Amino acid sequence: MAVNFFQYRLEDLTDYIQSFGEKKFRAQQLYRWVYGLKEFDFNNMTNISKNFRAQLPQLLNLELPQVVKEQISRDGTRKYLFDVGDNQTVEAVLIPGNNGRRTLCLSSEVGCNMACKFCFTGKQKLKKRLSTQQIVGQFVRVMMDQPEGEPITNVVFMGMGEPLDNPEAVFSASKILHSSWGINLSRKKITVSTSGLVPQIPLVTQAGLRLAVSLNASNDETREKIMPINKKWPIADLLEACRIHSRTSKDKVTMEYVLLKDFNDSLEHARELVKILRNVPSKVNLIPFNEHPDSGFHRPTEEKVNAFQTYLMSKDVHVLRRRTMGRDIYAACGQLTSAHKNHPITMSI
Ligand code: SF4
Repeated sequence: MAVNFFQYRLEDLTDYIQSFGEKKFRAQQLYRWVYGLKEFDFNNMTNISKNFRAQLPQLLNLELPQVVKEQISRDGTRKYLFDVGDNQTVEAVLIPGNNGRRTLCLSSEVGCNMACKFCFTGKQKLKKRLSTQQIVGQFVRVMMDQPEGEPITNVVFMGMGEPLDNPEAVFSASKILHSSWGINLSRKKITVSTSGLVPQIPLVTQAGLRLAVSLNASNDETREKIMPINKKWPIADLLEACRIHSRTSKDKVTMEYVLLKDFNDSLEHARELVKILRNVPSKVNLIPFNEHPDSGFHRPTEEKVNAFQTYLMSKDVHVLRRRTMGRDIYAACGQLTSAHKNHPITMSI
């Protein structure tokens, strides 16, 4: 029976192809046709021998996860809802940026066990870890949708799920996206965002990918209230792992900080944040909370956000305020869910 092409890293596909007595370079050719040239019909792969082309449908299938729903925001953000089997769905979001940047936010799990209090996904317990082919499939399906000359330029594992809770599939998928025979996305254009699974952080370093950390607090007491994982790996351990990553990779770590009204948005918190990040090569990404039903949290006022940002800047912290994209379609950070029926739909094209 034909197996799914998108599960295979190049070396695995090579082994598979060779097991049928074919030459090693056939795997490279297949990668080039499918990922590079978006050709899904084996018959059109003209540099592959006729005999092998005829055999390929029995060996490989090119099935992608089905898109159940697609929404386009007023700002151009696109949200895709994918069927990943067992009556489960996940979301991926394509976010347009400046200078031709197009970032695809991928999901790695259905639901999530980390239970961060501000996150919509965290309200659903983990139901399923996605396979490599389901992660790569999200990318390829969105890639096929892109007009000529408008490639996806960046990937972030910031969708549903904790990527380091599903490391095998996430790092295999990253390797596939990175292969120079296929999509050829630079490792530095792939970011893994973790809530703080400290023992797994070296895997990001080894894979040569960028690291982002969902920090969201300046002390353990505050962080524990919104991120249960902090009880297991407190801030000091997390920042030490970030320091080691940064030293080895020579990259800054992105510290995501969701600003929650009257919870972590005071100048006292900003002062504390400056202190704890003093020896961690990093930049801070401020994300004013995107409100969603029943979260119990609110978005701080613009003045509060500006004051927080200004304070960090005055202390020479590299700080960016993330533009909130796709709010009208609930595609913003922390709003993704497989329970899409709970989402009010305000679609606009
Ligand atoms: S923020 Fe990330 S790690 Fe936390 S519950 Fe949501 S998906 Fe899971």
